[in-house]
Amino acid sequence: MMLLSRLGVVLLVVLAGTTPAWARFEPVTCKNNAFTPQQEVTEGAKAAAEVYQEMPVLPDSDPVARYVQQLGAKLVSHAPVLPGVGQQWPFNFHVVASADINAFALPGGAVFVNMGTIQAADTEAQLAGVMAHEISHVVMRHSTCNITKQQSPKLGFGIASVLSSVLLGDSALGTLAQGALGLGAKATFLKMSREDEQQADLLGAGIAYDSGYDPRGMVQFFETIEAKYGAGGAQWLSDHPNPGNRTEYVSAEIATFPRRANAVVTTPEFQRMHAVAMGDKMYSATEVLAGTWKRTGAYAAGPGASVQAVSAPMAAGQGSAAGTAIGAASGTGAAVRLSASALGVGMRTVHLQAARFAVDYPANWIKQQDSGGTVSLVPQGGSGGQGLVYGAVIGLSKQSGDGVYDQASLNTATVALAQQLSDQNGGLQQVGSVVAMQVGGKIADGLELRGRSPLTENGTALPERDWLVTVARPDGDVNYLVFVSPERDFAMLKPVFAAMLQSFQAQ
Ligand code: ZN
Repeated sequence: MMLLSRLGVVLLVVLAGTTPAWARFEPVTCKNNAFTPQQEVTEGAKAAAEVYQEMPVLPDSDPVARYVQQLGAKLVSHAPVLPGVGQQWPFNFHVVASADINAFALPGGAVFVNMGTIQAADTEAQLAGVMAHEISHVVMRHSTCNITKQQSPKLGFGIASVLSSVLLGDSALGTLAQGALGLGAKATFLKMSREDEQQADLLGAGIAYDSGYDPRGMVQFFETIEAKYGAGGAQWLSDHPNPGNRTEYVSAEIATFPRRANAVVTTPEFQRMHAVAMGDKMYSATEVLAGTWKRTGAYAAGPGASVQAVSAPMAAGQGSAAGTAIGAASGTGAAVRLSASALGVGMRTVHLQAARFAVDYPANWIKQQDSGGTVSLVPQGGSGGQGLVYGAVIGLSKQSGDGVYDQASLNTATVALAQQLSDQNGGLQQVGSVVAMQVGGKIADGLELRGRSPLTENGTALPERDWLVTVARPDGDVNYLVFVSPERDFAMLKPVFAAMLQSFQAQ
């Protein structure tokens, strides 16, 4: 059962320890009974989705995230595909707004790099080295091979029980978060042996080199954080323990590479993104766990998804939510896709004092108000004859309760409101569950919905994201805000919506 990995150990010792530079490290194909490659991708994706629930992952459209994606793609294009896998893993790269110096990879290719790591790296070669190390864990299937190792045939553990206990069980999410955060027992698929670490170091150095980088960057990064934080101080070093003599064996490996004069140490793009990252919001491990970041609406709801929101092309009348078509809000022409500047991204805002609420919105948007007091805030050209394509609808829903809300009673009202919106807008699909928030110091709920946009492409309605936010009013009624955008533009508009929400005051 352990034959192949033992062979790997022997090979490592030969290459790294006792032999002159005669050959590069050959990636090790470990024994993997637990997962087929397809299962590995499927289960890894599930685990990645859980990460988004537990950690503040930047939207894929964020500039720093995009930079990391590009760097990752470049490295992956120089990563080997091991026998039995068939094709390269579907790698995807994400940035977590966590101050911990850490990075981790999930089976199948989801790689998460903490903002703290990007800040701690001095050069692109250093960051590339860290990411190449993570890529190497995926390529060599360390996570799932470790599950195979832990299976004991004598105890009768089958694939199903391993799957359910490791990845699918109730405790998996908590364990993952703890593992990622370093606050408790590590999830099995994040726990790497020293042997795994050495393999990832050696293969990673080769990938970085083949991608044009100075392969010493990885070791430089390790040494820097080890010097700064001590051997166990940085979380990265806990998740990826130093096998010992890291510098020596990586240096020996690098000596096997043909010399190259023009190896990349850093790039202007790295320096630019490093500067951006230095100014980005980060959360401590405790804050990540506390979940305060969930209220900001600034982080992605899932891999490839935009942000935490959804919508409905409608306006709500006073008393009963929704119902009023808002297609006439700013013209009746055919809807078109709008640019970021037209959508008010980065635009100065103006203050709106309405009858029972106040909000700031982009100065180039148009305000419409119906007789019931419902306000639509819409970019010019943001609605067509078929309805609202982009914008926000803010209204009031009369409630019959006693006026004292707690999270549970607001939740009930929110779900009912979402149902009304769905009924009046041809059916909306709920995405995720209701998220408790605070808006302007009041109890609030957020709920994401998916519908169909009035915007069409080749005659087909585009998917729409609607973000319903309800705010408990002191007088017992509920203010609601529905932010609307075609799904593909939602990530771009999210900061605009989030800023509006941040300024919102129920009065
Ligand atoms: Zn590692």
